[in-house]
Amino acid sequence: MTRGVCHDHDHPHTGEEPRLTPGRRAVLEILERMRRPVGAYELIELLAVPAGRRPAPTQVYRALDFLVEQGLVHRLASRNAFLACGRAHGASEPVAFLICDACGRVDEATSPALAADVAGVAASRGFSPRAQIIEIAGRCAACVTKDAA
Ligand SMILES: [Zn+2]
Ligand SMILES: [Zn+2]
Repeated sequence: MTRGVCHDHDHPHTGEEPRLTPGRRAVLEILERMRRPVGAYELIELLAVPAGRRPAPTQVYRALDFLVEQGLVHRLASRNAFLACGRAHGASEPVAFLICDACGRVDEATSPALAADVAGVAASRGFSPRAQIIEIAGRCAACVTKDAA
């Protein structure tokens, strides 16, 4: 059955969501639940709990590649870890991560000005960006407050 056109009544539309295989969905659900960056090995251990067996690492890496490509998951190069996307934005849109060294909290931020500046920097060198991720390390607001107290 194909999805019909929009009718004149209320029902949820999920048309934009990419199709996820059970394996990919399991990876995404764990990252969404953890709400912090998770390394691939930890992810494999977490997947092994409900599955009752450890999934093949290549399978997990392939699922992560797909989710990153779709913009549902981000890779934090500085931590070699993965994080579910906290915001709705395009997969190729620039995003800044504010990574707290003290508590490990990671906040995701975007702004039109940041997007324009990053695009300008790349364009000035004739560079065609694939991923535009800025990682900012330091102390989150809660930890700054705690340190000051
Ligand atoms: Zn994101
Ligand atoms: Zn913190």
